Amino acid sequence: MDAPDRPLHWTPDEFRRHGHEVVEWVARYLEGLEDRPVASSVEPGWVRAQLPPSPPEEAEPFADVLADLDRVVLPGVTHWQHPGWFAYFPTGASGPSVLADLVSSGLGIQGMLWSTSPACTELETHVLDWMAELLGLPQRFRSGGEGGGVIQDSASGATLCALLAARWRAAGDGPFDRLRLYASSQAHSSIEKAVRIAGLHPSQLRTIAVDDAFAARRDSLAALMAEDRAAGLIPFFVVANVGTTSSTALDPVGALADVCAEHGAWLHVDAAHAGAHLVVPELRWIADGVDRADSFCMNPHKRLLTNFDCDCFWVADRAALLGALSVLPEYLRNAASDSGAVIDYRDWQVPLGRRFRALKLWFVVRSYGAEGLRQHVRHQTALAQSLAARLAAHPLLEVVAPHPLDLVCFRHLDGDAATEALMAAVNASGRVHLTHTRLGDRFVIRVAVGTQATEARHVDDLWSLLDHHAGRLAAGVDR
Ligand code: PLP
Repeated sequence: MDAPDRPLHWTPDEFRRHGHEVVEWVARYLEGLEDRPVASSVEPGWVRAQLPPSPPEEAEPFADVLADLDRVVLPGVTHWQHPGWFAYFPTGASGPSVLADLVSSGLGIQGMLWSTSPACTELETHVLDWMAELLGLPQRFRSGGEGGGVIQDSASGATLCALLAARWRAAGDGPFDRLRLYASSQAHSSIEKAVRIAGLHPSQLRTIAVDDAFAARRDSLAALMAEDRAAGLIPFFVVANVGTTSSTALDPVGALADVCAEHGAWLHVDAAHAGAHLVVPELRWIADGVDRADSFCMNPHKRLLTNFDCDCFWVADRAALLGALSVLPEYLRNAASDSGAVIDYRDWQVPLGRRFRALKLWFVVRSYGAEGLRQHVRHQTALAQSLAARLAAHPLLEVVAPHPLDLVCFRHLDGDAATEALMAAVNASGRVHLTHTRLGDRFVIRVAVGTQATEARHVDDLWSLLDHHAGRLAAGVDR
């Protein structure tokens, strides 16, 4: 075999040098973020058009790769960490979290089994117990008893696992055709997707009606379940939202738990976004009744300063999850697993392999401390509340849903076309970015406050843009 005429791999020294360059690049990016337009304006195909059609035959200097971050990548990036980011929900990217991800990549381990890296498993179990304590979750979700927590890639993945565990508890390996599950009309699309992935028919998912605040109605769930039971069907799974995606509506978890108990159905709480607010004791009422849920998930990667991907998922009884997801081929057998004394997280998720994601949560919790996390949530929630008060008092705008947390939904009183035009005009400034939803049948603008860079002056700027364009639209100037 020919020896390469130059070393194939970076030495640790080269890694150190280029690593410093990359950290410097990210720091410069963050410093200059506020001066960039929030949303990318490239046309479809623009990014690909900058790239050569075939991969390079020869190794390229790393400096060229870095230069193309500025030339090719940044124009096609929409800046989720921009202080004017009020779209969708925020996504975390604090310094400690970014650096923990670098450590995870540097270690390059694969934590599918306890034995493939004990620290990966044990840190995760421990940090998930910490998180349960930080959020005030019940003892039944902690690792000391029958339950426990695991980090999933996403809330979608957590909901799928909850559904599979519930199905296992209700019907083992099947048949599944008599099973029925329930979620409100406001529930996240990941539930419908989980139904499809699990091979259930879409008609097995029944829709719970919502009240004026867009929260699931207990009487609707009770009626659906009773009707199904009377027809010889098996109600097996209910998803309660603590914070819907459209408007952070809060389903009455305790009341839904009562109905689930009557039918032996599994209650999963999807608190993907709003769950982070539970770090603040005075907001814990939003999840009243969670002590009776079978599973619960929330995303530190949304509101809690942690990089995507990081969803915390807890079950009260891990046996059902393991029953649904454990498959043991010979090549994974090992003495530690056989002893029954360790957790193998491969059995708690869909993929086999897993990254060392607990590191970023550990770095974040230690670097901010519980008090720092509370301060972050309280501050951003107060900013949203101050905006909501101004919107509610505006003669041309209307707040259209309760806003207990960090999201405010509103519309222009002149109707859908004016509301849509208002959002477009404000976004065209490049200083802020808003997205929309439909509530009832109305087009509604959502303002989600929560990136770590967002301060009162950015919310004030958003407010003046809204006020200015709302007036121009009402006067017919911007139409
Ligand atoms: N559930 C709710 C209530 C959400 O708001 C979202 C995303 O916004 C999800 C689930 C899906 O989250 P993920 O991207 O982690 O799958």
